Amino acid sequence: MTSLKARKTQLEARLADLKGRMAGIEAELDSHNAPDWEDLATERESDEVLEGMGLSAQQESRMITAALQRIADGTYGLCAKCGAEIGTARLDALPYTPFCRDCAM
Ligand SMILES: [Zn+2]
Repeated sequence: MTSLKARKTQLEARLADLKGRMAGIEAELDSHNAPDWEDLATERESDEVLEGMGLSAQQESRMITAALQRIADGTYGLCAKCGAEIGTARLDALPYTPFCRDCAM
């Protein structure tokens, strides 16, 4: 079984990675505000893709922050809904999930 400490390290590394990515996306979007774009439609499209990526990164980082809080509280690995233990395999795949497989459905 993966130790809580290893999970924490894993989550913190992922969070740092996401923060770096979000900063990169923001810088990229900012650079698109330059007025001399030749193909605005294409730019707008890629902006939407970038914004979508930014949003999912933001959502994931929020879930990771909440998971780190649960580690601090000692409730990590327990389903936030039914209180059951979340399986190790599920935590391996989704280390920040607050729900067991049944409740996530
Ligand atoms: Zn549950």
